[in-house]
Amino acid sequence: MTDETKILLSEKDIPTHWYNIQADLPKPLAPSIHPGTKKPIGPADLAPIFPMAIIQQEVSTERWIEIPDEVRDIYRLWRPSPLYRARRLEKLLDTPAKIYYKYEGVSPSGSHKTNTSIAQAYYNKQEGVKRIATETGAGQWGCALSLACNIFGLQCTVYMVKVSFHQKPYRKSLMHVWGAEVFPSPTDRTAAGRKVLEETPESLGSLGIAISEAVEDAATHDDTKYSLGSVLNHVLLHQSVIGLETKKQLELAGDYPDVVIACNGGGSNFGGVAFPFLMDKLQGRRKDLRAIAVEPAACPTLTKGPYTYDFGDTAGMTPLMKMYTLGHTFMPAGIHAGGLRYHGDSPLVSLLYNEKVIEAISYPQNPVFEAAVMFAKSEGILPAPESAHAIRAAIDEALKAKKSGEKKTILCNLSGHGHFDLAAYDDYLAGKLVDYEYPADKVKEALSHIPKI
Ligand SMILES: *Cc1c(COP(=O)(O)O)cnc(C)c1O
Repeated sequence: MTDETKILLSEKDIPTHWYNIQADLPKPLAPSIHPGTKKPIGPADLAPIFPMAIIQQEVSTERWIEIPDEVRDIYRLWRPSPLYRARRLEKLLDTPAKIYYKYEGVSPSGSHKTNTSIAQAYYNKQEGVKRIATETGAGQWGCALSLACNIFGLQCTVYMVKVSFHQKPYRKSLMHVWGAEVFPSPTDRTAAGRKVLEETPESLGSLGIAISEAVEDAATHDDTKYSLGSVLNHVLLHQSVIGLETKKQLELAGDYPDVVIACNGGGSNFGGVAFPFLMDKLQGRRKDLRAIAVEPAACPTLTKGPYTYDFGDTAGMTPLMKMYTLGHTFMPAGIHAGGLRYHGDSPLVSLLYNEKVIEAISYPQNPVFEAAVMFAKSEGILPAPESAHAIRAAIDEALKAKKSGEKKTILCNLSGHGHFDLAAYDDYLAGKLVDYEYPADKVKEALSHIPKI
């Protein structure tokens, strides 16, 4: 048994299969619905925008899906990622709890998103696609896909939310280094973008608008497909490498978590770390295991939204998915955790939350940054503002354990580093961060536009 601080695996321990939680759900997922016909969508509806291998993974109920050798070979650039025991943070908190964190910031683009971008680029290449179009908010996904396209010799077109394009220029620079073309969305390149610009010429964009543009780009060009960095089942499938490795690492430490914590935007890093553990819960071996999805108070999808059918994008071009949503026209406040500003959520995470298999909690940004700085000062690593939501919740669990004297084991996913988010840290340190109230009126307005199914 190891008592190391940094628990490492070797390259041969990179998982050979992804774990598909669709095999173990308490009930099947509700089908996605065609917005026109209101009938369940089939593979043919998705074929214009996704390669067939991805469409098959989206609906598969096979428990284990083999990871292609070429994908595993590229994973070797940074996987297996380290699992740390946060001894210095534990000491600072003076808690009897053990805190572990899995660190996905070691990937070339600095977050977990490469786990799926590599797989998606691979399947597109296999099926003869020449170009991939996508959206990005703060730029994490755009970077991850630019890198993957560069590796497989594909062109990459990124619609980047305009406010981030101007506020976070260095993520755009990184996408350019990896050879992608990047446009500030809304653009005049698509009908969806032009419509927004006509109505609101000053629009700063949103993830929902950028998705509409990227989907339209793919649907209107034969050689081009679309790629999404979160939310969908195949994305959460690819992210399962996080939790599968963590299980092996905790085995080496002779441990198993009482609670698994991750931040939740579209649900992919949460699903990635939590689902392989939830397999044990759903199969009856670990009935008491808790999993907590942490979201921002400014965009509290799980904790405040209804569970209902809604569009994935603003223009209403995507299939309708059953999920927790704040309404597809909802525009969250400009918090620094750009990757958590999405109106909807993964249908898989949504189902598990509705079935009370998992929990959710939300925090305003100041306590989140307070936790981030505590973490940076004790553990050294500067977390992404998104990941810091998980750290906040892990710290609060550890403090609860201190009060009750419990020797709990807490596992937290550190989805990325914050090296491109230093302006946010400057704002926090200068006392300039605003804690937005829950925008009840804006959500109510947005929910009035949800389609009736
Ligand atoms: C994109 C991103 C997130 C949020 O996306 P999920 O799909 O919910 O994981 C969280 N952390 C980081 C570092 C990100 O880049």
